[in-house]
Amino acid sequence: MSDIPKTPAEWRTILTPMQFHVLREKGTERAFTGALWNEKSSGKYHCAGCGALLFSGEAKYASGCGWPSFTQSIVDGATAYNTDRTFGMRRVEVVCTACDGHLGHVFNDGPPPLGTRYCINSASLTFHPDE
Ligand code: FE
Repeated sequence: MSDIPKTPAEWRTILTPMQFHVLREKGTERAFTGALWNEKSSGKYHCAGCGALLFSGEAKYASGCGWPSFTQSIVDGATAYNTDRTFGMRRVEVVCTACDGHLGHVFNDGPPPLGTRYCINSASLTFHPDE
């Protein structure tokens, strides 16, 4: 992953404006507007910035929130976490460990047994369906 872009200008050459806004500026796509919130096929979800494998379709579920929702990331260490105090809330931001790209937030209102809901922007992800 040594070829991960470093500067905003480098990122702008490989990301769409929406991907750049979400991944590099911590933006949020509007609910129910992303390409993947209702994706139900089996497959894997990679970081749209650096290609790192982040989520399995097996962990995706229909949360009804309008963003792709997962109960967990695919392996420990694929995602990292920061406290986000913007907008008068205390939330836990989820980022791609490899490129530090903003993915979304993780909440504690997910289904049992884990109870976690990774609420992730479609723009942060690329979906690779199984063969
Ligand atoms: Fe990444």
